[in-house]
Amino acid sequence: MSHGTSPRFDVIFDLKNRVPRHVEVPRDEQGRKLKISEYFGVNTFGLTQMRDKLPSDVYAKLRSTLEHGKGLDKDIANVVAHAIKEWALSRGVTHFCHWFQPQTGSTAEKHDAFLTFDDHKAAIEKFSGAQLIQSEPDASSFPSGGMRTTFEARGYTAWDPSSPVFIMEMGGVPTLCIPSVFISYHGDALDEKTALVRSVEVLSTRATELLHLIGQTGAKRVVPTLGAEQEYFLIDRAFYMLRPDLVMAGRTLVGGQPPKGQQLEDHYFGSIPARVLAFMAEMEHELYKLGVPVKTRHNEVAPSQFETAPIFEEVNLSTDHNQLTMEVLRKVAQRHGMACLLHEKPFAGVNGSGKHNNWSMMITGSGELDGQNLLDPGKTPHQNLRFLLVTMAVLEGVHAHAGLLRAGIASSGNDHRLGANEAPPAIISVFMGDMLSRILDEIEHSGKGSESGEAAVIRLGVAKLPEVMKDNTDRNRTSPFAFTGNKFEFRAVGSSASTAFPITLLNAAVADGFAKITAALKAKLGTNKSTDAAILEVLRDAIVRTKAVRFEGNNYSEEWVREAESRGLPNLRKTPEALKQLVTESSKKMLVSTGVFSEAELTSRYHVRLERYVKDVAIEVETLVQMVDTIVLPAALEYHGKLARGAAAAKNAGFAQPQKESAERIAHLCDLLQTRRKGLVEAFAKADASDEHDAKAAALSIDVTHAMIEVRRVCDELEGLVADAMWPLPKYREMLFLS
Ligand code: ADP
Ligand code: MG
Repeated sequence: MSHGTSPRFDVIFDLKNRVPRHVEVPRDEQGRKLKISEYFGVNTFGLTQMRDKLPSDVYAKLRSTLEHGKGLDKDIANVVAHAIKEWALSRGVTHFCHWFQPQTGSTAEKHDAFLTFDDHKAAIEKFSGAQLIQSEPDASSFPSGGMRTTFEARGYTAWDPSSPVFIMEMGGVPTLCIPSVFISYHGDALDEKTALVRSVEVLSTRATELLHLIGQTGAKRVVPTLGAEQEYFLIDRAFYMLRPDLVMAGRTLVGGQPPKGQQLEDHYFGSIPARVLAFMAEMEHELYKLGVPVKTRHNEVAPSQFETAPIFEEVNLSTDHNQLTMEVLRKVAQRHGMACLLHEKPFAGVNGSGKHNNWSMMITGSGELDGQNLLDPGKTPHQNLRFLLVTMAVLEGVHAHAGLLRAGIASSGNDHRLGANEAPPAIISVFMGDMLSRILDEIEHSGKGSESGEAAVIRLGVAKLPEVMKDNTDRNRTSPFAFTGNKFEFRAVGSSASTAFPITLLNAAVADGFAKITAALKAKLGTNKSTDAAILEVLRDAIVRTKAVRFEGNNYSEEWVREAESRGLPNLRKTPEALKQLVTESSKKMLVSTGVFSEAELTSRYHVRLERYVKDVAIEVETLVQMVDTIVLPAALEYHGKLARGAAAAKNAGFAQPQKESAERIAHLCDLLQTRRKGLVEAFAKADASDEHDAKAAALSIDVTHAMIEVRRVCDELEGLVADAMWPLPKYREMLFLS
């Protein structure tokens, strides 16, 4: 049944769409509902399953491979592959794929059946060690940023055993996925994971070096940890499908503001709508099966905005798990008749979405030191000195490479969010909190006089740090990079971004910071000072050196923009200028010397990301122009025609013509829209004519972006005038407020 001329009415009135979907929970044979712990990870073949299914010598070899961060030996690969195949077949799996992360920001997979023929031409299932370890997708179909011309086109994917294989069930089809890295035959990283793994290694080496220097010689390995809070919007799938902009660009390119936005603050942490709760339960259930430890769910600040957060894990694994989370969010939303929007700014004038990257470093593989968080102040003054040294290594890294970290989060989507007074600004600074700032200030001003190192440590309250830190109530929500008790929270990362790249750069920057602190400490220790005194001096120097990057105030304020400038901090508002930071001398020097990227790899990252930006904006422009031509103008002209006909009829009948005023306003806006549409097309053509990628991107980020906003303004004004029944696009009011 049709409810009006506008298709949205059919959707809104079709109430059966709005009933929560019944979610099946996993049960045992007796029909008892299982606890999460009873089915967590059933779709993964991790260490527990390996231990159960593999001969003990093979398992021992595999463990040692993992502990040393090495690849898998060929001699055990066949045995491991066989066990994996048996497990997968028992679960109804027919195909396997190497699951990897090309530089598209998402994941890629190519499926192969286990099916093959034996010597007697009989069909059998086979999966060899070689197939587990390596596969060869066509590298030329993935972005390589020029590396294709520099190097051979061919590349291969290789299993990274630190991330367990898993079975992805989609549409009732289970597929065995093998988390892999993607490299060229010359060993160049073609993907996001290879460099991440390298950055973990260099951070571990550098951190361990410092730990040894301060006497923690038992420390063998340090791994960065990550818990990524994922924000997202949910809207009705039917609305989504009626919006070409959401389908093509992931964000609305037109749409008037509803009378009620988020000003009532009634959504944040409010009760979760039943349909959404059913969605969340099913999404979490899928993720638990995949071994993703999602922990928290809640409403976010904006209407129809939500968040899910996991328990932190080693960055390599949590990066994979965040990718799985985004995939499962999208796919499960479909089952519930909804669309999950991961874009940083799906709705103008409404809060955008971020991905807060909670990040720290943990000691592993080191006996009694295992599990210690390096950003957790300890119980003794010496552990607290360790904490302070590590904290200063982080500050050194962020201070020296603030521009680079900004580049790591640059995307067309994030440009709409950063600096919009609801998200961290484009200026990277660090918030330390009152207590810690005070301690750093005291250390900075100490040491004048004859006080011994030990005495100073005591007087400065270093020993009292743990108690001080427990009072972690003071939170600065405006900071892009905030210390939150025992970790840093990198909040400026965009909601749709992979965590791999920003965390790779952060790991590398902090590794560089560790090198500085270690070198300084080595030099001081060489001068016959007591260790405590030497550490205090190193801390003091580092505090002074990195002071510019610390900011405790309101990051949204105009004063901060001015102050940051006077402090020499980069303020890179748009993606093209931010991306340039990837290829500055300082970035190159640091990333190449840490071994995280070769110069060619780094240049390729710059090109891939810039190209992506250019493509994103081009798609938006084309979509907007199409929407103007095929949706907005036709609707406005149709309404105008109706008014005109009404006015003519009224005049004929001898009545006044109240339609005239509206008709004239609409006619004027239609003219204006056509003029601005032309302006946009011209601005785009001008930008596009440039052969230089840099110049093109810069023009897109300024002139074209501005022209898009101008077009949008007129569309939104028309939305407010044209009869509701004749407006074909779902409105913000409908998309965001109907539960
Ligand atoms: P909030 O930020 O709301 O106070 P929590 O501090 O509990 O919430 O945690 C937010 C996120 O930070 C979670 O994903 C959590 O697992 C993660 N997290 C906690 N400790 C660490 C750590 N040492 N390293 C990395 N992430 C962590
Ligand atoms: Mg948080």
